[in-house]
Amino acid sequence: MQGIIDFHTHAFPDPLAERAVQLLLEEGRKKYDVHAYLDGRISSLLTSMDRSGIEKSVICSIATKPSQFDPIVKWSKQIMSDRIIPFPSLHPESPDAVEQVRQIRAEGFKGVKFHPYYQDFSIDEKRLFPMYEELQKQRLIVVMHTGFDLAFERDRKCDPEKILRVLDSFPDLRLVTTHLGAWEDWDEVERHLSGKKIYMEISFSLDCMPMETARRIIMKHPKDHILFGTDSPWADQADALALLKNLELGQEMENLVLRKNALNLLTAA
Ligand SMILES: [Zn+2]
Repeated sequence: MQGIIDFHTHAFPDPLAERAVQLLLEEGRKKYDVHAYLDGRISSLLTSMDRSGIEKSVICSIATKPSQFDPIVKWSKQIMSDRIIPFPSLHPESPDAVEQVRQIRAEGFKGVKFHPYYQDFSIDEKRLFPMYEELQKQRLIVVMHTGFDLAFERDRKCDPEKILRVLDSFPDLRLVTTHLGAWEDWDEVERHLSGKKIYMEISFSLDCMPMETARRIIMKHPKDHILFGTDSPWADQADALALLKNLELGQEMENLVLRKNALNLLTAA
């Protein structure tokens, strides 16, 4: 099956799924009209993938405290398959952060996910540098929530200028920014990130801006640095796919965004 790769999804262990989705939904709804399109279970995500022609999904976990590292890694190992690519999470405040990065690599995972709002850090803080150093050394892909977050106050924890500062210090860090560079901070994306070799996945962005703006940002960017992502269950995978197709990027660019770029990133050691 030669299908699409979704670089940004979420799912939870079955016994926790319903409650986790409900809690996150309540958080988000304080400020934004957010919906859940799935119940948070892996089986539901697979059904959605079948329906949308998506072959593989990267599942991004978020450790909201250091103690969640072990259970997240354990579950991530259980769900890993040809179609499900788990990116576990460690909490940057963990005293074992560097060692945990090594462990994630040793367990065979391709990447990790961080979320500056849920994990309470700014991405350019010096205390994170030993962890970035190890992530860079281990060649792990780092999916970093970037831009504002709909459930939180608008602190600049992970804006385009800070992204550049991190990459200045760690030029070989395989960083993937989310939401077309930085959610709801797209002027700054155009100012600082456009045209640079920085990976951007496109989830939760195309319907938040005029179509011409999205198209301009994508077409100005190195074509091998744009990735398809949906942020499922917070968006419907088929809807997200339709939004991308609406941009009429052309067949070659669509193939790159929907599959080849992700495949290259996932298979390069
Ligand atoms: Zn997400």
